[in-house]
Amino acid sequence: MDYQNQNKVIQIFKELQKDKKMIASQRVLELSSNISSFKSSFFKLKNIIYYNPSVLGLDDDSIRFCLLHEEGHFVNKQFGFYSFPLFSLLGAAPFLITTFLLHSNSVYQIISILIVPFAFFLSWKFFPQFDEYKSDEFAAILVKEHYLRKKPSEILKQALDFIYAKGSFPLDPHPSPENRVKSIKDKIDDK
Ligand SMILES: [Zn+2]
Repeated sequence: MDYQNQNKVIQIFKELQKDKKMIASQRVLELSSNISSFKSSFFKLKNIIYYNPSVLGLDDDSIRFCLLHEEGHFVNKQFGFYSFPLFSLLGAAPFLITTFLLHSNSVYQIISILIVPFAFFLSWKFFPQFDEYKSDEFAAILVKEHYLRKKPSEILKQALDFIYAKGSFPLDPHPSPENRVKSIKDKIDDK
C-alpha cells in the first residue's frame, strides 16, 4: 500500500497499531517541530511518538521502520538518553560527598570531582548506542517477518540517508549510520 498524502505518517501509524498490532494500543502519535525526525517521549510512561513534518518526504517503508524503531524504545523499556547522564551524576554524588567528608586531602577531592564529567561523558557516549542498535533490530525483525522485506538494512539506509541529508539527524549521540546499517545487515538480513 502506498500513502501519498500529507497524512501518511498518521495512516502508517494506524496501520502498524490497529491492523498489524505491532505498536501498542496506548501509544499516541504527535507532530512536533522541536524534534529532528522521530522520537519517543522522554518519560516512556507518556506513550508518545513524535515526528517532525520533514519526515513526510520519506517513503512508506522508511516511515514504518522509524515508527517501529521508536516502538522498540518503549518495548525494550529504554529510559532515554537523558537518564543515563542523570543516573551517573546521582551515582557519583554519594561518592563525592563521602570523599569530601573523609579526606581533607585536595588530591582526593580533585580526583572525585574529575569522576563526575568522566562518568557523564561515558554514559552519554555509550549507553544510548546499545538502545539504538536494539531498537533497530526490533524494527528490522518485524519488517522482515510481516512485510516480507528481505533486506531491512536497505530500508534503514534509505531512511538514514534521507534524514541525515536534510540535516535533521538526532542531536543526542547515536551510532554512526554506517554502523547501524551494517549491524542490521549482519544480524537480520543475512539470517
Ligand atoms: Zn532511537
